[in-house]
Amino acid sequence: MIQWNEDQRALRDAALGLGKPLSTGYLERDADGAFPREQWRLLAESGLLGLPVDGAWGGLGQDLTTTMHVLEGLGEGCRDTGLSFSACTHLISTCLPVDRFGSDALKERVLTRAAAGELIGAHAISEPEAGSDMLALRTRAVHDGDELVIDGHKAFVTNGPVADLYVVYVKTDPGAGAFGITAVVVERDRPGLTVGNPMRKMGLRSSPLGELFFDDCRVPAHNVLGDVGSGFAIFDHVMKWEVLCSFAVNVGEMQHRLERTVDYVRSRRQFGRHIGSYQSVAHRVVEMRMAVDTARRALYDAALKVQRDEDATVDVAIAKLLASEGNLASAVNAVQIFGGYGYMTEYGLEHDVRSAMAGTIYSGTTDIQRNRIATMMGLEEPAPDGSRPHA
Ligand SMILES: Cc1cc2nc3c(=O)[nH]c(=O)nc-3n(C[C@H](O)[C@H](O)[C@H](O)COP(=O)(O)OP(=O)(O)OC[C@H]3O[C@@H](n4cnc5c(N)ncnc54)[C@H](O)[C@@H]3O)c2cc1C
Repeated sequence: MIQWNEDQRALRDAALGLGKPLSTGYLERDADGAFPREQWRLLAESGLLGLPVDGAWGGLGQDLTTTMHVLEGLGEGCRDTGLSFSACTHLISTCLPVDRFGSDALKERVLTRAAAGELIGAHAISEPEAGSDMLALRTRAVHDGDELVIDGHKAFVTNGPVADLYVVYVKTDPGAGAFGITAVVVERDRPGLTVGNPMRKMGLRSSPLGELFFDDCRVPAHNVLGDVGSGFAIFDHVMKWEVLCSFAVNVGEMQHRLERTVDYVRSRRQFGRHIGSYQSVAHRVVEMRMAVDTARRALYDAALKVQRDEDATVDVAIAKLLASEGNLASAVNAVQIFGGYGYMTEYGLEHDVRSAMAGTIYSGTTDIQRNRIATMMGLEEPAPDGSRPHA
């Protein structure tokens, strides 16, 4: 495992220490679907909302594994899973690509304020007819002088209803497949952009999510990230970070849940003994321990490969499966172990089940991750017409 230095440990401890004020009122926010503005301000003041951003633009300039380590601390301390998810989306979907691929003019205008948490970021890839099949996206952008004109409709945009900045993935050359996609920053006040209302959802309710509608929406051409046509490569870079960072948060959440469950089974007594001494209960706790340990190891091993610029496609997919499915199983086990109390909202464990379910869907569903691994193992045979079953 990685040996963290003093600075890295201090950053992680700071994130862990913020947990208590960030968690205050989280069950009420979950019930109301309310975005925690006050807690967002606390995160902004801590500097965590600019973790991987270059110091020149007001960030903390941390690398991938350190960012994950700090976010794991956030997950361990903060019970508001929606807030942690919104913070991760802001950091990884917006701050990261603008920092890595944006022009200096764009960074000057938006990045310093985003890294300080004054502007909230989101990214828009999915569309009503293009989810897992990202290359099927239809939102179109054409050049007109020194502007890009965008038309289309995006779905499921995390932070969408409250964001100030959107990294939008558009088709600039519909015939060019992966090379026809471009990533472009759209500010909320651009004429032609309509932000939809928050959609009600199963979990992560304090993280608002909604649709975006583009109708002749004009943005300066220098809002393009990287080159025109490089959007898929940017998406690939962002998705690796997104999987590794957002599931590092889940590892922190699993660690907290495990420790809480161990305390519970040592104190709850039935039939004259504490319930942890019953093998079936103890085995559930062991499952929770195995889930967090294997997910943590897989995520950091994959991240080290990404940091060394090695091909980590399979490693990231395996880590995502272990972390997302492990987190869901851990939350279900905790509800079962806490019995009737686990089923009660005030214990926060049914909330964890609802939140954890999302991790098996966003950032590439569990089916798509398994397809990716199968493809990399050379298991798919293209059909006679050339189409690929796992696509
Ligand atoms: C909480 C949450 C937050 C999200 N945030 C964002 C965001 O910020 N920005 C954004 O752009 N999107 C976001 N999404 C959308 C998310 O990326 C998509 O939901 C996801 O990619 C799946 O797309 P879909 O919902 O259209 O499902 P579909 O692609 O229609 O899939 C439906 C089912 O079919 C399965 N399936 C599809 N194709 C195959 C195949 N080839 N082989 C096997 N099984 C297959 C899937 O696994 C799934 O079970 C978010 C989603 C959630 C739940």
